[in-house]
Amino acid sequence: MTMLSGTNLPRVGGYNQAVVLDAIRTTGQVSRVELAALTGLTNQTVSNVVRKLLDAGLVAESGQAPSSGGKRRTLLTLRAEGACAVGVHLDPDAAVIVVVDLAGQVIGSRRLRLTDPGDPADVVDRVARTTGRLLDRSAVDRARLLGLGIAAPGPLDGTTGAVVSPPNFPGWGRVPLADMFAEATGLPVALDNDATAAAIGERWIGGADRAGSFLFLYLGTGVGAGIVLNNTVLHGDSGNAGEFGHMAVEPGDRVCHCGALDCLGPYVSPAAIIDDLFRLHGRVAADRIGLTGTPDAVHDDWKALRRAARVADADACDVVRRAARRIGEAARGAASLLDVSRVVLGGEALRGIEPIIREEVESAVNRTSVARTIRPVTVEQSVIGETVGAVGAASLVLHGNYAPGWRMLTDVTG
Ligand SMILES: [Zn+2]
Repeated sequence: MTMLSGTNLPRVGGYNQAVVLDAIRTTGQVSRVELAALTGLTNQTVSNVVRKLLDAGLVAESGQAPSSGGKRRTLLTLRAEGACAVGVHLDPDAAVIVVVDLAGQVIGSRRLRLTDPGDPADVVDRVARTTGRLLDRSAVDRARLLGLGIAAPGPLDGTTGAVVSPPNFPGWGRVPLADMFAEATGLPVALDNDATAAAIGERWIGGADRAGSFLFLYLGTGVGAGIVLNNTVLHGDSGNAGEFGHMAVEPGDRVCHCGALDCLGPYVSPAAIIDDLFRLHGRVAADRIGLTGTPDAVHDDWKALRRAARVADADACDVVRRAARRIGEAARGAASLLDVSRVVLGGEALRGIEPIIREEVESAVNRTSVARTIRPVTVEQSVIGETVGAVGAASLVLHGNYAPGWRMLTDVTG
């Protein structure tokens, strides 16, 4: 397993705490001696750091390893109730709000329907009030609440914590979401785009299964990617790394909101796949599947189309597969560029069509000679499941506080 190494310089104690906590979290149960080996820290440094983590209630001693002749070793585990965070996933049709503990387990959740996202201030107000009620009901110890994370559709202005004209949020210009949520809830706030937040959630919760490098493909209203390379989340210069929807594919007649005709996004969104079904298979097939084809029924139509694909309706499978092939081609380019041996699929649009997407992506990413001879690429489903956006959002806060090196990359305001 790849572990981040620590440093024995006394001035970076905070960093070492994060390194040690990360090692305890990802191994599950570990002794101080093993921690020293995993992190490259001296036994003395590990002892000091562990003492601080014990005092802070973030880890606990959990029995002893069997003796191998010498002194018995006390084992350390994460104390899940030691801290918690709120995660908010903002999507055009709903806000999903979760409270998670330090281990990333959901201890409370709410879904708030946003039929018309409308005024940002109104959305923030409604989400903040629902969050307050959820925290009360979950009986969370407020002293252990670290903050609130938001996963929002990009693009973002990473330096100011604003979203900038997100597609599917009509009328939203530059909206300073991080500041607005900080003011409405009084909590420290972290903001990232939904796909990157989902990747951070996978990294936080997936433990050893998500150590190292992976490309996370997020399928929601649009398509996006989160990139984890050698245990580090990539953000890029402006905080918008992973705009997978703008990967160039074979051009067609659909214009991306960025103006290009060859962006992946407009060919693989739920709305696009529904449109393909009408174009390629006609009204009869649409009626059989139960599609209305009206612009405001995309959510229900998409549900019906996924249901049809799941029971192997030939026309539904055909249009999903066409989209899956395009996603696969773009994923092949990204996997080659990044040298990742794992692609993770997630997002709420994926339910029911995951086998088709996975098959096409797996086939595409393994078509390169590097994949065939040096590093085959596995394609896996998210370990979190459908709430990966919201859990990812909460993980922004956990990560912001307790992941090594994170503070250098993102801003936790408040
Ligand atoms: Zn584009």
